[in-house]
Amino acid sequence: MNKNIAVIRGDGIGPEIIAEALKVLDKIGELYGHKFTYTDVDMGGCAIDKWGDPLPQEMLEKCINSDSVLLGAVGGDKWNDVPGNMRPEKGLLRLRAGMGVYSNNRPAKIWKQLSSASPLRKEIVDEGIDFIIVRELIGGIYFGEHKTEGDTAIDVLRYSEAEIERIGRIGFETARKRNKKLCSVEKSNVLDSSRLWKKVMHKLKDEYPDVELSDMLVDNCAMQIVKNPAQFDVIVTENMFGDILSDEASMITGSIGMIPSSSLGATSCGLYEPIHGSAPDIAGKDIANPIGTILSAAMMLRFSFNMEKEADAIENAVSKVLDMGYRTADIMPKDVEEAGKCKKIGCSECGSLIIDNLN
Ligand code: NAD
Repeated sequence: MNKNIAVIRGDGIGPEIIAEALKVLDKIGELYGHKFTYTDVDMGGCAIDKWGDPLPQEMLEKCINSDSVLLGAVGGDKWNDVPGNMRPEKGLLRLRAGMGVYSNNRPAKIWKQLSSASPLRKEIVDEGIDFIIVRELIGGIYFGEHKTEGDTAIDVLRYSEAEIERIGRIGFETARKRNKKLCSVEKSNVLDSSRLWKKVMHKLKDEYPDVELSDMLVDNCAMQIVKNPAQFDVIVTENMFGDILSDEASMITGSIGMIPSSSLGATSCGLYEPIHGSAPDIAGKDIANPIGTILSAAMMLRFSFNMEKEADAIENAVSKVLDMGYRTADIMPKDVEEAGKCKKIGCSECGSLIIDNLN
């Protein structure tokens, strides 16, 4: 198969982690007879420097016209003082909206080799952490009106029934393919948008009688994720709640550097990216963990290109490298390092080891 992938290296560690993911994709192409071609896209701080715009229209079109988009990360202190609609992150919001990718899927799964890297108590981790957060990505407060009038700032949170229904369906479909438990998270004791959210979810339930639906208030959910994460199978929630809960969920699995994500809309052209940011504190040092990006590339193969075996091969190779005791700095707890049980590796060595273990 021939696939054209739009590649956004971005800022900070973005170029380093993307380089490793492309090495892996090239090797997969060689082993399985596919041809991946890459179209470079400027977005974020580097695009502000080059074009005076975090996502020029021409760059957005390159993404829309590709078979899928692989993104490293954008942002950094250098661009903190540019006006709001020119900040690097604005490019990302425009990209998601422009591609129409309304459904963001973030797995929170602990790799057995890394259970000691979780900040949770061992007995909680041993119960298992393996759930998915399905987050609405292009509506809600991030896309409502924002304005400041004198000493008052206003951000508008708006959801329509249709927007809730389409993400609700993704939640039910995702649960149907797993353990058939869907938890709908909202704040219906306070917000009108959440009461509408809850009503639509319960209306949809009739179409998915095999899925068990539960409701949870977002503040309780934040607590339950650290108290008893094993209770969750699939969580479906709105944009801002999902943003916050998915960062919390990633942390209990050990490191933010391990977690991939996919964002999809009505077509197979998706946006795939690790969940972390551009980590300016470690950029250019060859110490970033590229696994979240490499696993995002695996998700692209599975969800957008229907390349199930190829995606499995990448995930198995990551697991083998962890089994062999190789760790980037972020997943090497001090006691493990001091006991000499694992070997510390850099970003490019991590990518190369994954390639060596692909078959
Ligand atoms: P961050 O995720 O970049 O970093 C948080 C911490 O995690 C840092 O200590 C960093 O070194 C570490 N870390 C992150 N990814 C890592 C990896 N792959 N390997 C090892 N360690 C890793 O979050 P931040 O510091 O709050 O944000 C930095 C910049 O990134 C900001 O400009 C922010 O706006 C931007 N950002 C971008 C995205 C995106 O592009 N999708 C997402 C979040 C933040």
